[in-house]
Amino acid sequence: MTMNTTDREQRHQARMQRKKAVVDAAIERADRDQGLLLVLTGNGKGKSSSAFGMVARALGHGLRVGVAQFIKGRSDTGEEGFFRAHPNVRWHVLGEGFTWETQNLTRDTETAQRSWAMAREMLRDEHLGLVVLDELTYPLKYGWLDIATVLDDLAARPPMQHVVITGRAAPDALIDAADTVTELCDVKHAFRAGIRAQKGVDL
Ligand code: ATP
Ligand code: MG
Repeated sequence: MTMNTTDREQRHQARMQRKKAVVDAAIERADRDQGLLLVLTGNGKGKSSSAFGMVARALGHGLRVGVAQFIKGRSDTGEEGFFRAHPNVRWHVLGEGFTWETQNLTRDTETAQRSWAMAREMLRDEHLGLVVLDELTYPLKYGWLDIATVLDDLAARPPMQHVVITGRAAPDALIDAADTVTELCDVKHAFRAGIRAQKGVDL
């Protein structure tokens, strides 16, 4: 037997009412403001592009933003071209490529340490409402940066400053320290079908 339209309407309305009550109660409970630490990790595409989406959001609200990129993959990305010239953006890119490019441990470590000094400056700048530490997980993974130092500097930042960290294989200690963690899962990627990085999508 099929339900008539009125029955379906009423059931739908009752279900939505119950859902609204649950959502409203959850919204009511979340009544605090604070600077958040977000970690975007995993093998799927979308970590850095999500971080730069938040840069756009923050700038749209008049916040100042700092970006430190911990691997210099390429300097011709759309995000760099678009955001770097923005008056409310501070942009820092690591001096040179690393590992398979430089193959020099001492130099990589020095470069990473210099970059962390820049990041630390951003984390001490209370005028910055958002700081993006793009691909920070790699220097941590290779041991060029000390995780304890990084966590101390993150903990000491201004209370309302948000920080987004991206990169694969985020260390557990970083995940523990974060407020929001998303793992992007690689279901499929066009690169494996032989399609090179496309402007506006991959860079
Ligand atoms: P995006 O910058 O596009 O958000 P991402 O930050 O999640 O990507 P990275 O590991 O930093 O990923 O890789 C950057 C580049 O590698 C991008 O061009 C992206 O499209 C590509 N890429 C990301 N994930 C994969 C994957 N699983 N296979 C192949 N290429 C990938
Ligand atoms: Mg990335």
